[in-house]
Amino acid sequence: MKNRVDLHIHTTFSDGTKTPKEVLMEAEQLKLHRISITDHESVQAYQEIKENRELFSGLIVPGIELKTICQGREIELLGYGISIVDIGKNLSSIYQTKEDINRGYLKAIIKVLKSKGIILPDNLEEQYGKENITGTQPAWFVRNAMSCEYEYNMKILYSDSIEHTAKDGFYRKWLSNPESDFYVDYKGYPDYQMTIKLIKENGGKVFIPHIYQYGESSNSILEELLKTRKIDGIECYYPSFTPNQTLYLLEKCNKHGLLISGGSDYHGANKINQLGSGINNNLFVPEDKVKDWTDELSSKMNSIA
Ligand SMILES: [Zn+2]
Repeated sequence: MKNRVDLHIHTTFSDGTKTPKEVLMEAEQLKLHRISITDHESVQAYQEIKENRELFSGLIVPGIELKTICQGREIELLGYGISIVDIGKNLSSIYQTKEDINRGYLKAIIKVLKSKGIILPDNLEEQYGKENITGTQPAWFVRNAMSCEYEYNMKILYSDSIEHTAKDGFYRKWLSNPESDFYVDYKGYPDYQMTIKLIKENGGKVFIPHIYQYGESSNSILEELLKTRKIDGIECYYPSFTPNQTLYLLEKCNKHGLLISGGSDYHGANKINQLGSGINNNLFVPEDKVKDWTDELSSKMNSIA
């Protein structure tokens, strides 16, 4: 069996369904060689990882995934090798709490959807957070609430009823897409300059994850980020990438002297992506491509207090 690597993993400290301890055990079982837990706006998983470090014999790189704004759109950046202690303290300097962001975003989503004629339950805001329907993501929460008038709402959303896409589609295709009629212009997050600065100031390297999730804006976002000359690497291996997309990004890295990364974006039961192998085994991150920089940044794990 080939040596597997997975540098993009979520736990219960953001929107994954597996605890950090469970992820370590699963990674060990799958004989992964290198992993990074990259929860959204949180490094809390690393306390539990530290306490259970012996469960995983491979190498761990400290990581975080941060939402940020580029070209009016919510995108993500990964920070690897950040000092867990420092970023844990400094995150709140530019990031609101998850709770505040989610509540503000929920309000904005409801306003936009209602203005377009979508029917939603009256007490939606009060319900939010009380019931654990699909976690804490406002987009998923509202998407589910739309089932109160499902057929009617879907007709408005898809106008001429293209096939109904997955929950992810609702967020990427409509809410976070400035080209869509259902775009929610809510800036709950700092712009990418600030996010890059935060990662760098806390000792990390900045990587661009899953760039092709941003539809037609993907290439211009990629170019704008690369133009800053502050990007250290690109996630070239990702379950939904075509071989040509991976090849294109590898060439970009080569040309600009950037580091190469890859991961499954594992969310436990919240996504079909499997740890280390993606969807139907469509992910393989060659270990030799990530070896040098992950070797180096894994030393940052020592400094976890
Ligand atoms: Zn992710």
